[in-house]
Amino acid sequence: PKRIVVKVGTTTLIYPNGNINLASIDELALVLTDLQNRGKEVILVSSGAIGVGLNQLQLNQRPISIPEQQAVAAVGQAELMDIYNQRFQIYSQQTAQVLLTRDIVEYPESRNNVINTLEELLNMGIIPIINENDTVAVDELDHLTKFGDNDQLSAIVSELTRAELLIMLSDIDGFYTDNPLKNSQAQLYQRITEIDDKLMEQAGASNNHLGTGGMASKLKAAKRVLDAQGSMILANGKQPKIIFDILNGAEVGTLFKGE
Ligand code: ADP
Repeated sequence: PKRIVVKVGTTTLIYPNGNINLASIDELALVLTDLQNRGKEVILVSSGAIGVGLNQLQLNQRPISIPEQQAVAAVGQAELMDIYNQRFQIYSQQTAQVLLTRDIVEYPESRNNVINTLEELLNMGIIPIINENDTVAVDELDHLTKFGDNDQLSAIVSELTRAELLIMLSDIDGFYTDNPLKNSQAQLYQRITEIDDKLMEQAGASNNHLGTGGMASKLKAAKRVLDAQGSMILANGKQPKIIFDILNGAEVGTLFKGE
């Protein structure tokens, strides 16, 4: 694939104790820069604003009210970009911050503006780093709404930019027949060609408090990607170098690809 979207979850960026995982962010910067220099077009969709904000403000848990969460996210987003910029600069790679809301799906004019900006950034050899604009959109922060997490955002971005591959990095090796943390008999799916109700039932909730998506959200994203004739790989982001393995054709994670 030439054009690749990579989505990283909070667990790739933040340790369970709340500290920022600089080693992992550094590895991510190294890998994405390498791909960019080898002629790939790379877009990063990154969660983590709240996690970084909590760390920055020395809070040990996520506040309950939405405005407080938005405030934490606003602090964290700036800090997160600062960290990314520092790490990418080590490898002489320019990045850009792109904050999006769902109107890119509903309003053709907004959508075109986003597409034009992303195309131009890629054209200039810059890696766009995308997140939802939490000040404007509260869907992601609201655990009750179904739409709007970064899993969907990464699928929407893949669709808009006609990316050949979406690499979704999570804290788990792929999609299993059941939540492997609760059921040791769960089996990893290597390839899924379509999302049906049976798969949706096998998708359980997330069990970390910072991540918002859970597996159902990843399957929904996969469905969107499949509907747009793209493909997606769900893999473990513990070591972002896994992206090299994926692109070298190693059998890691779960591949979602139509027949
Ligand atoms: P991220 O923060 O990377 O977006 P999430 O925490 O939202 O990730 O989702 C990953 C979690 O989903 C896994 O750690 C696992 O506990 C849970 N999970 C539930 N059902 C499944 C399943 N069928 N296969 C894999 N993981 C599952």
